[in-house]
Amino acid sequence: MTLPSSTVVTRFAPSPTGYLHIGGARTALFNWLYARRHAGRFLIRVEDTDRERSTDEAVKAIFDGLSWLELFADEEPIFQFSRADRHREVVDQLLESGHAYRDFATAEETGRLRDQAKAERRPFESPWRDRKPTVDDLALPHVVRFRRPRGMTITVPDAVQGAVNWSSDDLDDLVLLRSDGAPTYNLAVVVDDHDMGVTHVIRGDDHLNNAARQSLIYDALGWTRPTFAHIPLIHGPDGAKLSKRHGAQAVHEYAEMGYLPEAMRNYLARLGWAHGDDELFSDEQAVAWFDLDGIGKAPARLDFDKLAHVNAHWLRLADNDRLAKMALDAHLQRGRGLQPDDEDRLRRAMPFVKDRAKTILELADQTEFVLKARPLAFDDKARVLLSGETLERLGRLRDRLALFQSWDVFALEAELKAFAEDEGVGFGKIGPAARTALTAGSTSPDIARILSALGRQESLGRLDDALQQTK
Ligand code: GLU
Repeated sequence: MTLPSSTVVTRFAPSPTGYLHIGGARTALFNWLYARRHAGRFLIRVEDTDRERSTDEAVKAIFDGLSWLELFADEEPIFQFSRADRHREVVDQLLESGHAYRDFATAEETGRLRDQAKAERRPFESPWRDRKPTVDDLALPHVVRFRRPRGMTITVPDAVQGAVNWSSDDLDDLVLLRSDGAPTYNLAVVVDDHDMGVTHVIRGDDHLNNAARQSLIYDALGWTRPTFAHIPLIHGPDGAKLSKRHGAQAVHEYAEMGYLPEAMRNYLARLGWAHGDDELFSDEQAVAWFDLDGIGKAPARLDFDKLAHVNAHWLRLADNDRLAKMALDAHLQRGRGLQPDDEDRLRRAMPFVKDRAKTILELADQTEFVLKARPLAFDDKARVLLSGETLERLGRLRDRLALFQSWDVFALEAELKAFAEDEGVGFGKIGPAARTALTAGSTSPDIARILSALGRQESLGRLDDALQQTK
């Protein structure tokens, strides 16, 4: 593939050993935003070279998480393990150019020499670094090591961390190929990033040291290094490294807790990156604004209140049909049986409840009242309220509503007001009883909205039930 040299190519390179962590999701998002910002391409590479720890379930979990977040790659994903032959080919190239050597030392020997070097405070080097193997040696098991330059300062001009320096003497001669012929991680990353045309490597700063090792491999191969941007990891609200005790770490848990993907993208974008004081922004704005300069050097802290605030914002903007479906799902998850017009009722209720909820689960709490099956069950307190004069008044309200044709929320509001006036009482004498009769005490909006969400037939039916049951 030939690309104009200015084309930005980013990638997300998860190791499929578990669920999609929110830190990984943020890395994916930053890479996605950067590619979009520069009209480039965002790619995914599954780093499945560790055959023992990589699983198909983890691959699926990661792609499920990314799809939920709507972060799709611009090309088919690449699976690193399938490229092992190409990795070995590059090792041959390094052997030929003298940038790599075969190391025939046994594991015990290597361990001993390493301990010795440590005791003498000098870098460990295999004796094979400067020894030419004989034809007989070549038949023996061995690893292939990178011959790092000695006494050299390696500088990585990191787009987030600034210029970071290492002495090559502090690094080992990295194993490139294990004795079973399996390519190692750092080699595979360099070869794949190069072959995929990756121009910008944006990833967690736990990989910063790898950037030094990888840079040496790029240089040895005569390949242009990508721009590295190492982002600080996410910390918990208390500033400590994020762990289980801080709460959810997996993207799917956030989906289950009722967050919207667009809210999660908005929140994650702000986690470690800033555009002035902007907290609430759309994908389009994030794409227009995203740059590596805006990424902070200090670890971002997860803030659940802020996330809830961002989610509440996106809930208010979300389409009612979509929210009704999501709320219905949440009700079904709670073990509720499905009734034919549930979704319609939920949709009708949405405009009245969506500004009261921070998550889909809260939206489900707020819409319990519309899905209740008739007749509602009244407790003793409700029965006391629904008695005597109040019950008689409720009966008159029912008769009046039965004659009322429009079921529009504003018309209902006016009608309820007119009814209270005709009765010569304040609305306080009507509201609580009507609410109890219509919802049996579930969380609910005001009476006109309850009626509007329930619809004419259901509302009148519930009022009838209350009048019957409590007589
Ligand atoms: N596979 C590595 C990880 O999951 C990422 C490596 C990289 O981005 O270069 O941590």
